[in-house]
Parts: sequence; structure tokens; C-alpha cells
Amino acid sequence: MDIGSHDQLAKASEVILTNRVGVHSHIRGLGLSNEMEPRQVAQGLVGQVKARKAAGYIVKMVKEGRVTGRAVLIAGQPGTGKTALAMAIAKEMSDGAPATLMSASEIFSPEVSTAEALTQALRRSVGIRIKEETEIIEGEVVEVTIERPATTSGAKAGRLTLKTTEMETIYDLGGKMIESVIKENITAGDIITIDKATGRIAKLGRSFTRARDYDAQGAQARFIQTPDGELQKRKEVTHMVTLHDIDVINSRQQGFLALFSGDTGEIKQEVRDQINQKVSEWKEEGKADIVPGILFIDEVHMLNIECFAFLNRALEADNAPIVIMATNRGITKIRGTNELSPHGIPMDLLDRTLIIMTEPYTSAEISSILKIRCEEEDASLTESALSQLSDLAKETSLRYVMQLIMVSKVLCKRRKATEITTEDVLKSYQLFSDEKRSEDWLNQHADQYLFHHSAPEINSAA
Ligand code: ATP
Repeated sequence: MDIGSHDQLAKASEVILTNRVGVHSHIRGLGLSNEMEPRQVAQGLVGQVKARKAAGYIVKMVKEGRVTGRAVLIAGQPGTGKTALAMAIAKEMSDGAPATLMSASEIFSPEVSTAEALTQALRRSVGIRIKEETEIIEGEVVEVTIERPATTSGAKAGRLTLKTTEMETIYDLGGKMIESVIKENITAGDIITIDKATGRIAKLGRSFTRARDYDAQGAQARFIQTPDGELQKRKEVTHMVTLHDIDVINSRQQGFLALFSGDTGEIKQEVRDQINQKVSEWKEEGKADIVPGILFIDEVHMLNIECFAFLNRALEADNAPIVIMATNRGITKIRGTNELSPHGIPMDLLDRTLIIMTEPYTSAEISSILKIRCEEEDASLTESALSQLSDLAKETSLRYVMQLIMVSKVLCKRRKATEITTEDVLKSYQLFSDEKRSEDWLNQHADQYLFHHSAPEINSAA
């Protein structure tokens, strides 16, 4: 089986992901100093210092490639930042080993078995760093011509001709590009690196002078050939893909496009075996490194006993990623059994798991988190509105109050004001119920609803 050339895999790694402003978008990292000490407020994270420090050590171990196949559990009350911590870990991993974030409920789908869904998640969390040698031409620039056609609109467009003694490259330039060429002011004698296959400028080997320097020379600039010739060099480029990317590219039914649709279906074990074989050959030949990353499974108590058994076994495989789980459950039933266990996780898996506990926040910490969220959502508010939101967060929940920021901002905008006041907060609190008020309402109006169960019945059903 041809498991995909380096080139195909490089293309797969060029997929660009965009981040939207979401509930955790204020989190930029773990906020640790070089000595691994958490700052009280840093990179969008507030407090939870013990947990952040522990998470920092996990990141360090993964980055150093020292551990694979470990399980970590982040446990704590609802809203104590377990998912936020996982997001921070993922941010710390960017550029390096892959981090996959998912909720346990995503494992259950009508299209694929739970074993397949877990396998895909695990393989998405193992990176393959592919090393590729490209041929480049490095040499001194012997001639640069920039033509700026006279356009009525004065639009900047033109043509740049770059010559080294071996090749001539002509670039048709759009506005932005010519701007940067002018700014960067490529001149003869600059050391330039051109990718031979694509003809693209790979690197300019000197610091650029100011735009003014070029402008002084006019739109047409010719430079005299310098005596030094060019030399050919081989340059090593690396691309990171995941084992799952390689699986999908080589899965006959789905092919490359399934990477974008996510509709991969079941991938045959024989395909995976051959890929594992090929990847270890690449490793032997020094063409690739295997980089185990992180798989984060939120709400892990939603997994059933089969999934836990599968995970337990998968963690023993060579190059398994680190599995980080999170739950807000106490002692509860393991799904699919009548057994009780801490966090609803079987004892044999818990036994091999490092546990990080998150703690409830102080009033000052809640206030700090809300302040950060307001900045993130571009909402300015009065001091009293902020302290009102903090008080409400203690009464209701941090998450509910975060939603009120957005509603208050809309209300504030409607009255053409720029600063959210306590009035806006109060109005949004009255417009939208929190969990507690909703439950009270249901209990008061029980007889008007269909299928109403009393609270003890709900608990025993869970
Ligand atoms: P649950 O158990 O209900 O899933 P959780 O512990 O995962 O809750 P999060 O979802 O992480 O809680 O936190 C709720 C909100 O508060 C999120 O928007 C999160 O980004 C934010 N948040 C929580 N802790 C912190 C923190 N220490 N610093 C900054 N933001 C935080």
C-alpha cells in the first residue's frame, strides 16, 4: 500500500483552523513563569494555582517526549475551571504535539462504534513529524527589477524580477506584495533562498532597510551583477500530521476529503496496521518522529464500562497519547454497571491515573475572571455592575453570570450607552432564569407539567 507521499501529508498539515470567540477564548495558556510557578492572574487564567502547576508538569513531560500512555483526571465541582485548564494545556502544546479536545458524548454515534470513535480520537492525538529535504537555491541576488505600471487609480501593482546566476524568477505582484517588496527593499547582493520546486522566496538573508531607501531609487531599479555565484543547498523542512490524518488519506472509501468533512466512517484495522508499520520504518530511517500528544475527554463519567476497558488497554500501547479526563461527578455509578466508584470511573483505570483537583473560587477570583471575560467580550461596565455580577455568581453560577455579560451588553447598547450599569445586569437577570430559579419554578408548578418527577426520583434515576 502506498500510504501517501511526504508531499500529500504536508498538504494535509496546511489546513488552517480558525478560533471563534467562545466561552474559553480568553484562555491563552497556563500562565506559568519559567520556574513553573503560576502567577495569580496570567494568560487569562485566574487562581487555581495548584492545579495549574500540576498541569504545567504534564505539559513539560509531553513536550520533552518523556512519557506516553498516562492517564490524568481533572476532578472538581462544576464551574471550577476543569475545561479551562484543559484549554490552557492545549494552548501550551500549539506548534508541538497535537492536542485533541472532546466530550465523552461524542464517542457515541450511530455511524461508528465506540471502539472506532475512541481509536480515531487517540490517533488524532499522536503526531508524526515528517522531515522533508527540499532543494533550495541560495545565492546572491544579481538583479532586481520592479516595474510599477502607471495606473489611473495609482494602485500599487507590478512585477518583480529576481535573478540569481542560476535562475530568473518573475513575480506578478498584488498591492500588498509590492508594498512589502518596497518595504523590504530587496537589492542586489542580498542573500536569497528560493525553493527550487515552487520558485517561492524561502528566505531573505539580511535585515531589511526602510521603504524610503527604495523610493529614493525610483520605481525602476536595476542592480549590477555581483561576482559571487550561488550554491545549492539542501534544507530540512518538517511537517506535523497526525496518525489519524494518515489513516484517513489512505482509507479507500473516504480519501483525503474526509479530513475536511470529518465523515471518516470506520477505518479498517489492516489499514492502520500497515500505517503503523510504515511509520515505524520512517522512524528507523530517520525520516519521521512520533510525537505522542494529549487527548482530553470532558464529562468522562459519560463513558460506559466498555469504553473505560478499551481506554485502559489502549494506554498500554507504544506511543499512546496522554489521556486527560475531566469530571464533576462524585461517587457515582459506572455507566453500564450497577457498581459505584469515585467519579464513575472504574478502580483499575483510576489506579493508574494522576488526579488533579480543582477548588471553588474566592469572591476576588470570581471578580477577576468576570473582569477578564468582560474585556474578552469587549464589554465595559461600572465597578458596581462588576461587583453585582460577582455577587450573583456566588448565588447562581459563574457560567450563568458569564452569559449575563453578553445580554447586559445588548441592553446597554440599546439604550445607546457605552457602560453596562447595575440596571442592565438586573434586567438581564430578570429576563433569563438561572438553574436554581428554574428548578424552583418547576417545583411550584409541578401539577401543570407533564411527566413531573420529584427531586429524589431524579437522583435515583441518574
Ligand atoms: P463543569 O464541571 O460544569 O464542566 P468546569 O470545571 O469544566 O465545569 P469551566 O467550563 O472550565 O468549568 O469554567 C466555566 C467558565 O469559567 C468558563 O468560561 C471558563 O473559561 C471560566 N473559568 C473557569 N475557571 C477559570 C479560571 N481559573 N480563570 C479564567 N477563567 C476561568
